[in-house]
Amino acid sequence: MKDSYDITIIGGGILGCAIAYFLSAVTDSSIIVIEQEKKVGLHTSSRNTGKVHAPFYYSPDRKSSTATYALKGFDMIKTYCALHKLPFKEDGVIEIAISDNEIDVLHKHVQWAFKNGLKKEDVRFLNKDEMLQFEPNLKCESGIVCFRDASTDYALINQKLMEDAIKFGCKTSFENKFKSIYFNTKTAANRKMTIIGTVEDITTDYIINAAGGSSLDIAHSFNLAKEYTDLHFRGEYWIAPQKYSNLTKRSIYSVPRYTEYPFLDPHWIIRSDQTCEVGPNAVPVFGPYSYNFYDNLKNVIPKISSSFKIGLLKLFLNTQFLRLVSGEFSSSFSKTSMINRVRRFLPSLNPSDFKQRGKAGIRSQLIDRNGNFASESLLVEGESSLHILNYNSPGATGALPFAMNIVRKLVQTNIVSRTSRSINSPLINEFD
Ligand SMILES: Cc1cc2nc3c(=O)[nH]c(=O)nc-3n(C[C@H](O)[C@H](O)[C@H](O)COP(=O)(O)OP(=O)(O)OC[C@H]3O[C@@H](n4cnc5c(N)ncnc54)[C@H](O)[C@@H]3O)c2cc1C
Repeated sequence: MKDSYDITIIGGGILGCAIAYFLSAVTDSSIIVIEQEKKVGLHTSSRNTGKVHAPFYYSPDRKSSTATYALKGFDMIKTYCALHKLPFKEDGVIEIAISDNEIDVLHKHVQWAFKNGLKKEDVRFLNKDEMLQFEPNLKCESGIVCFRDASTDYALINQKLMEDAIKFGCKTSFENKFKSIYFNTKTAANRKMTIIGTVEDITTDYIINAAGGSSLDIAHSFNLAKEYTDLHFRGEYWIAPQKYSNLTKRSIYSVPRYTEYPFLDPHWIIRSDQTCEVGPNAVPVFGPYSYNFYDNLKNVIPKISSSFKIGLLKLFLNTQFLRLVSGEFSSSFSKTSMINRVRRFLPSLNPSDFKQRGKAGIRSQLIDRNGNFASESLLVEGESSLHILNYNSPGATGALPFAMNIVRKLVQTNIVSRTSRSINSPLINEFD
């Protein structure tokens, strides 16, 4: 394997692999993905709810690009899944108001849905009686049904994107963790950099940082995005026993209680393989891979010493945030407390029936100096590098259009050149 590449992508999650897919299909550049694990997609991209989210609860003012990528992502994922015979169930989703004072939020979400590009036939508001005819086991005051929402398996999509990228010429370096960067030349022109990895070093002209929960630390090592710190939130799930498999026809979400924070309350989930789960909550943890108690403990000192900055201090002085966090901790320690959050609208659930935890996933949120959460993903450009930060939900839904957009910009700015090879695939055909 050669050790010098035009472009190096750090991170083999769904985003890094989607970028590798488009880059290797439409350019002549030499490309490598470096991934710290043995294979791609072992972190957030395989530890999520598996929904192809329709953009009805993203504010068109605060989250317009998130909404745009989600809308476009639905079609692109549908096409990609059809191409490779991967699961894609257009099963729709329901959002409900548990109390009267939440009904206005549902009306607002219907408006947002249309502003974000959903069509009239995609979303329907239902009053209490209509809702109960639709889903008789629900307890609610009203709801909206979104028909343009689907379930898939992002781990399979992630893996297939990597396989396709390899077919198009992309190389990989596994179990190779980015440790630091060395600039071989001091000037920006013809810059060469060497990535110091745990297994091998890689020389490259351009770096795309798509390292998920580690992306901010990597950006900091390039002296970028220093105004941000991050906080990690573990989303935990409980698997429902078989007896509940026909409880509802669709996944059910409730109106979120804390709309200013980027988390929804735990939902009733029907996955693409028909298994049902309750989750996820959002429990603060010390690192992006703190899936269990011991891994979390290992990250306490590094997190506190590196990142306990003014923004986090301000956030932890915010009483509303502390209220949210205490509820999340309680649903982490107590299964009953977690199941009861969904039992508010599915009263026949019995917490003692739930015996098995699902696979937890961790989202990493950027926090600014004022203690505010960054509302959307952030692209930070360095000299010869691009850093994708705060790439959170519905990041898996939007990964294909987001990646396509990045590759388009790299072509337009002559960082890579368009190939004359042609690959006949519906997604690649969409590129031009
Ligand atoms: C609980 C939960 C539920 C979610 N549900 C949904 C959903 O239903 N629908 C949806 O669309 N989105 C959902 N999301 C969001 C979605 O899963 C993420 O936005 C998406 O998977 C992020 O992909 P990624 O490639 O950026 O990150 P990741 O999948 O985390 O990939 C980053 C990769 O970088 C590698 N890496 C990190 N550091 C280094 C290093 N130093 N050197 C080399 N490699 C490195 C990691 O090993 C990893 O493989 C959910 C997220 C969570 C946490």
